[in-house]
Amino acid sequence: MKKERKIYCDDCLKEIEFRGDLVVSRILFEIIPYHASCYGKALTTKKTILLSNEPLNGPFATFISFLFCIAAIVALFFDNGWIISILCLVFPALRLYIWKRFERYLEV
Ligand SMILES: [Zn+2]
Repeated sequence: MKKERKIYCDDCLKEIEFRGDLVVSRILFEIIPYHASCYGKALTTKKTILLSNEPLNGPFATFISFLFCIAAIVALFFDNGWIISILCLVFPALRLYIWKRFERYLEV
């Protein structure tokens, strides 16, 4: 059973219906969903000063999360590596949060 939750674009306030059309970015510490086209538009406005240039939900972000997970495991083999290991898990945790909050409700 699929849970229902609608995701709305922060720019045009219309519903985002497909995962491929979703771009999640951040302004300072706030996580914000956009349509892909609205994100492109937002990057050309004055919002671009605070808006992250790299989407947090793309394949690149997933790849970086994977690398950070490996780094977290490797760091455990060093003295006091658990501190670095925890820091390395921040980005994968953020990626997981984005999937849980936005992506899982959208169709592929
Ligand atoms: Zn939009």
